[in-house]
Amino acid sequence: MINYYETAILENEHLYGPGKRLIIWVQGCSLRCDGCVNEHLWSFDIRKNIAVGALMEMLDDSIEGITLHGGEPLDQSEELFELCKRAKKYNKTIILFTGYKKVELEAVKLKLWNLADIVVCGRFEKEKVRYNLQFKGSTNQRVITHKGQYKKYRCHNGKQVALLDVEKNGAISVKGFLTEDIKKIYNGLVVM
Ligand code: SF4
Repeated sequence: MINYYETAILENEHLYGPGKRLIIWVQGCSLRCDGCVNEHLWSFDIRKNIAVGALMEMLDDSIEGITLHGGEPLDQSEELFELCKRAKKYNKTIILFTGYKKVELEAVKLKLWNLADIVVCGRFEKEKVRYNLQFKGSTNQRVITHKGQYKKYRCHNGKQVALLDVEKNGAISVKGFLTEDIKKIYNGLVVM
């Protein structure tokens, strides 16, 4: 079972990669970068579990692939590797967001990394924060493209993107970059 915070089917290339994608925000991160806006995703104790099979059922023909977000996906490598391996059989692409660098990995973490078509990697460093980079929150992070149809993929920086959701009960959540302007809209946002 995969411990997760939220799943969504979204189309936003700047934030999550090409095409319509199944985005999985996993719950739990052992890396705990100073300044991370996703502190609510650090704890491994908050459990909302979903089976690999249930996630596979979400992958209809219109979906280009899966984006693994966090939290820290590589802290749940075993189950996520199983999911991605199965998804690849249906020609789905994989984009992995991770705070790890490749040199830190062994065994199944490395297997999951190697399965991904695009990897966005490295700790968030608050001194190097930038809001207009595609995929990245700080300039030290790297985007590595190394597989299949994304082999020649080029990032396009220069946009600040945030998706605001307003629930029926009036609650607001934001996906994307928490800029100072957005912080002013609402105090206590849930950001992913
Ligand atoms: S930025 Fe990513 S890797 Fe770093 S603490 Fe936050 S969720 Fe974990």
